[in-house]
Amino acid sequence: MTPQTLPLFSASPGLQHTLTVLRFGTSGGPVATIQAALHADEVPALLVAQALRRQLTVLEAAGQLIGEVRLVPYANPIGLAQQVLARDQGRFDLRDGLNFNRGYADLSEAAATALAGRLGDDARTNVRLARAALRDAAAALTVQTPVQDLKRQLLQLAIDADVVLDLHCDSEAVLHLYAHTLQADLAHELGALLGAQAVLLAEESGDSPFDEACSRPGPALQKRFPAHPMPLPCFSTTVELRGEADTDHALAEADAAALIEFLRRRGIVAGAPAPLPVARCEPTLLAASEPVTAPRPGVVVFHAQPGEHIEVGQTVADIVDVDTGERLPLRAQSAGVLYARINTRWAVPGTRVAKIAGRTLVRTGKLLSA
Ligand SMILES: [Zn+2]
Repeated sequence: MTPQTLPLFSASPGLQHTLTVLRFGTSGGPVATIQAALHADEVPALLVAQALRRQLTVLEAAGQLIGEVRLVPYANPIGLAQQVLARDQGRFDLRDGLNFNRGYADLSEAAATALAGRLGDDARTNVRLARAALRDAAAALTVQTPVQDLKRQLLQLAIDADVVLDLHCDSEAVLHLYAHTLQADLAHELGALLGAQAVLLAEESGDSPFDEACSRPGPALQKRFPAHPMPLPCFSTTVELRGEADTDHALAEADAAALIEFLRRRGIVAGAPAPLPVARCEPTLLAASEPVTAPRPGVVVFHAQPGEHIEVGQTVADIVDVDTGERLPLRAQSAGVLYARINTRWAVPGTRVAKIAGRTLVRTGKLLSA
C-alpha cells in the first residue's frame, strides 16, 4: 500500500487541509476507487474504510490484487473539521450552505469534444480514450475555494475507475444503494452481496451528486458516438451503510468483505467468486421512492421501523401538535420497504420523516433529500 497526501487549495494563510489516499495493488489493470464519508460525519463509512484497509493489506501481501484500489478513508477533511455549537456539521459547507455531495462537474461535454474524430472500432481502445479524456477534463476544472478543489481532486481519483463506491450512511436506515438505471444489474449484484434492502435507480436525481458525476459520462458518450462501440466505462454507486449510529466492528468487517467480493467479481481481486447470496430486494426507481413528509410542525412518533414493509395507507408516524395535542397520522401512499427515517423527533412543515422504496409514484424534479 502506498499512502499519498494531497494538499488542498488553501484560501486562508496558515490553513492547509489535505486529502489522504491509500493506493493498493498495481496500476495497469482494472481500478476501483472507494471513498468514505463525503458527508464527513457519516461515521459507519469511516469504520468500513478501516476494515477495507485491513482486508486489502492482507490481500495485497498475498499477491491477490490484480488491479488497483484507491481508498480514500475520509473523503471530506473540510467537513470533518466543522463543529458548530457542539454538533458535527458534515453535510453542508458552512461557507455557502451547499451540500458536499452536490454540484459535481458533468465532464461529458468536455470529454466528447476531446474525443471527436478519435474513436474507432475497438471497444477497449475507445474506453481507454474516454477515460483519458475524462481524466484531462477533471484536471482542467477551475478551482477558487478549498471545497471546489476537494471536489476536483475526488473526481480525479474516480473518473477513470472501473468501479466507484461512494460510502455514506443515512440518519436511521437499513443498508441501501443508489445507482444509474442502466447499471441495474451491477447494482442488484452489489446489493445482494451487501444484503441491501433497497436499490434505488435514476438516470439523473438532480444537482449532480458524486456517484452520478462518475456514472453519467458513459451513457452520454455512448449517445454522442453511436457508431463506435464503447461499453460503459464506470460503474458508480452510493452505498448507504445503514444509520449514523450503526458503528459495529462485525458489521463493518462483513460490509468490507462484501465490497471486496464485488471487486473480485469485477476482476480487481484474484480468486473465484463465491455464489451470489439471494438478494433481499429488487431494484426500484428513485422516482418512485416516497418521502413521507410532515405538513406541519410537531413531535414525531414513529409506528414503523427501518426495514419494515409498509402497505398503502399504513400509518408510518404521527405528528403531535404541541398546541392541541392532536395526533396527525402520516400514511404511506405506496407499498414498499421503509429504508430510512430521520433520527430527530421534531418535524417542521416539509420535513421528510421517512422514505419508502415504492413502485407506484412517479416523482419529477430533484429526487434526493436536501
Ligand atoms: Zn451522505
